[in-house]
Amino acid sequence: WKHAPRDFRALLETSRFHGDKVFLTYEDEHITYEEHFRRAATLARRLVDEYGVVKGDRVAIVMRNYPEWVIAFSAALAAGAIAVPLNAWWTPQELEYGLSDSGAKVLIADGERAAGLAGLAPALIVTRGETPAGARSFAEVMGEVEADVTLPTVDLSPEDPATIFYTSGTTGRPKGALGSHRNLGQSPMTVAYGLYRSVIKAGKDPGESAGQRRVTLLTVPLFHVTGCFAVMTTTMFTGGGLVLMYKWDPGRALELIERERITGLTGVPTNVWQLLSHPDLDKYDISSLSGLGYGGAPAPPKLLERITEQLPNRAPSNGYGMTETTALAISNAGADYLAKPDSIGLPMAVVEVKIADPAGDELPVGTVGELCLRGPNVILGYWNRPDATAETFVGGWLHTGDLARVDEEGFVFIVDRAKDMVIRGGENVYCAEVEAALFEHPAVEDAAVIGIPHDELGEEVGAVVRLSSPVTDEELRAFLRERIAHFKVPVRFWARETELPRNPGGKILKTRLRQEVLGP
Ligand code: ATP
Ligand code: MG
Repeated sequence: WKHAPRDFRALLETSRFHGDKVFLTYEDEHITYEEHFRRAATLARRLVDEYGVVKGDRVAIVMRNYPEWVIAFSAALAAGAIAVPLNAWWTPQELEYGLSDSGAKVLIADGERAAGLAGLAPALIVTRGETPAGARSFAEVMGEVEADVTLPTVDLSPEDPATIFYTSGTTGRPKGALGSHRNLGQSPMTVAYGLYRSVIKAGKDPGESAGQRRVTLLTVPLFHVTGCFAVMTTTMFTGGGLVLMYKWDPGRALELIERERITGLTGVPTNVWQLLSHPDLDKYDISSLSGLGYGGAPAPPKLLERITEQLPNRAPSNGYGMTETTALAISNAGADYLAKPDSIGLPMAVVEVKIADPAGDELPVGTVGELCLRGPNVILGYWNRPDATAETFVGGWLHTGDLARVDEEGFVFIVDRAKDMVIRGGENVYCAEVEAALFEHPAVEDAAVIGIPHDELGEEVGAVVRLSSPVTDEELRAFLRERIAHFKVPVRFWARETELPRNPGGKILKTRLRQEVLGP
């Protein structure tokens, strides 16, 4: 190991030791570690020499999970620029916001999105599809890839900014999370620690699994931290294989697990749920799959039960993380997870946890308060948002906006997002608790609890449900009354035929649901 990966360039140079091992697989394309290094280094040189990119400039990426996404990301960072992965699901207006907010100097996009983006950044590089007038194609920019190419010289320190990832926008306008090289450099080790811990907690020997080549199926977009850090850079660090998909599709995922002998899958809970519900699950040989990780959004309580039943011995783990914590911060796995299935587990080695009252003072064990986190994974602040930064990062602690409690053994339990919590006549109703109770009903496929404005009580509890068979509101209420306090039982239900709206992070868009059922 040449350097400890305290910055991305060191991680990239270190990854070269994996040489001829295949790093990226997309359909029939395979890119080895050596090839990835050469292409990233070449593109980094072009960015510096031909586009005048200097340390701190922003290079935006808008594309599907193509291999070029990873190459562009590596190149931007190797050139000393701040990589700005934008949400490829965004509308052109939203992308325009991301490009102007970040002040991107160069935009690297796929052909599908490029046409609508021409002119929004000073320079546009396009891969996989038509190159609009004024733009250049990825292949043309790359030109000849030399075997002895080296990284351009840039003086980077661990505190230098490396990435701007936009938060999911679940509770408001997405904020640009400014991550440092230190954040990024520590993330593969933090995630690897989590992986080892889940292996140990599952009663296995980490030495054995260390000898096995990990091939991970990427089921989530690279433009969120789960895909980029919990999966991509961690794979780069450990020398495993990463299999990319054109888009998430559970049937295609089953084919790929069989064909590529996938050993692990990390995504959002919805991915795993859809895989388990696929009618052809039993038709594929998925015996290679030994690890099932998910997180980034609340996991339905039935998920663990279903995994244990349908895919036993698959070491399921639930990870909690935020854009602001460079992915994984807390995780639950193995025997711990089986014993405390509704907990998000224990903090990662580098992370400190505090449950605080509104003044930021620590609350006693067992009390619900705001989850606050501290550690080298916590980002520098928000890009261009001094007010939000001052509000969220207080005295060295990240205020997550999630309400949680910690038990005597240090296990963390998320009870709700502070912004989702319904206050009914002064009583707090945690939506997550009501949703968990609803999920216990066999006919409930999906559920989202929301606050409904009420003149006297301030708010009342409502629920949008997706049912697999007809159930009356009164039946649902009677079912819930046996499980939760009466004041928490929804007064109103909306049955929905179609899937509940979720963002790519797997989170239900409650603001949109509220508007749909209650009007603007
Ligand atoms: P925004 O901050 O823009 O409103 P967001 O908070 O959804 O969007 P992310 O950073 O993608 O953006 O998500 C972090 C949030 O996701 C956490 O604050 C938490 O509410 C939720 N979350 C992440 N992992 C888990 C998990 N394992 N269980 C429950 N909730 C989780
Ligand atoms: Mg958030």
